[in-house]
Amino acid sequence: MTGAARPWDQPAPEPNSLGRPNAAGMDRDELELLMASLAEKAFRADHLFAGLYRHRWTDWSSFTALSKPLRTRLQDEVELRWPEIVESVVSDDGSTKHAFSMQDGSIVEGVHMPYEGRATLCLSSQVGCAMGCTFCATGKMGILRNLTAAEITGQVITMLNHHAHPIGAPVNLVFMGMGEPMHNLAHVMGAFRLLNDPEGVAIPPRRVTISTSGLVPGIQRLGTFKPRPRLALSLNGTTDEHRSRIMPVNRVWNLEALAEALTAFPLQKGERITLEYVLLKGVTDSLEDGRRLVAFARRFPSKINLIPFNPHEGVGFEPPTEAHIDELCQLLSGQGITVSVRRSRGQDIAGACGQLARKRSGAAD
Ligand code: SAH
Ligand code: SF4
Repeated sequence: MTGAARPWDQPAPEPNSLGRPNAAGMDRDELELLMASLAEKAFRADHLFAGLYRHRWTDWSSFTALSKPLRTRLQDEVELRWPEIVESVVSDDGSTKHAFSMQDGSIVEGVHMPYEGRATLCLSSQVGCAMGCTFCATGKMGILRNLTAAEITGQVITMLNHHAHPIGAPVNLVFMGMGEPMHNLAHVMGAFRLLNDPEGVAIPPRRVTISTSGLVPGIQRLGTFKPRPRLALSLNGTTDEHRSRIMPVNRVWNLEALAEALTAFPLQKGERITLEYVLLKGVTDSLEDGRRLVAFARRFPSKINLIPFNPHEGVGFEPPTEAHIDELCQLLSGQGITVSVRRSRGQDIAGACGQLARKRSGAAD
């Protein structure tokens, strides 16, 4: 090969959207590497970090503390692209269900729930879910893929920007959207750490809750992280026979295995594990279930969150009557258990728990 024909003497191809690195969702180390790759000083990564996660800027032109030439290079060579909101549906109660499109076209959903002076964001951790719970719309999709830490973080930044959430106002995160977070713990914890950073969005660990269908090894691993999010378990059944029928995961880790894992879970002072319990009329909502629920909940510090079933297409379950929900509530609180009923927000827009599923070619829905 002679001089000019050598590939390394040719100009690099024009950067295009697939080839350029995307700074949205990069952690500190990645931003330092990005700066190093542009022959810039590592400390500039701090400015990028604050711009991306504290100020939530979405355009390089906002980073005015950087030199003009560097901003121009960033503009040309580095993307700043968060997941795109492709559909938003506002519910009567003020919550909004958003559909996010990821770079590969995958669609996941997140819900923004405003409360006075703060917001709770319900996040997806996977595209679909592998766990196959029979009452859950996401479970019917099957699993398509895990989300990356950047894509999980992106749901947060995009929702906060969309709703003009004031910088520093409290934010709660619940991993109760699409997916089983314990199946994707590395990326979920990556997003948790990024969002927890005091120089960024600064969400304290106690404001983040991971909800799991009961993957015991995941529960054990979560207990080893410091700091870590809070834990919620989707119990949804009080005998192995009943629970296995609606949650196949119970055939691998049954109620006793779960109780042991939860008893061993290293809680902080005053911390409690949330037990979510979906009320399916005639299936999980008997008074005997209530009594067994009390016995289960007493084995470790806990509180119970009853979730009346949210109906969705193609599933034959129904929620109990209000009177029956009241009766169960009385039974539990009468036994000294802390109990709340999740009055599902966004039910009219199919954004409530277990209704988050997107039709997508290839998904068995
Ligand atoms: N995969 C995780 C988190 C997402 S599901 C988990 O299962 O815990 C979030 C919650 O919604 C779970 O407690 C689940 O039991 C509940 N859920 C799923 N489908 C539901 C439905 N149709 N109605 C009410 N709750 C539902
Ligand atoms: Fe997956 Fe949770 Fe739905 Fe079960 S309830 S299928 S674990 S998203």
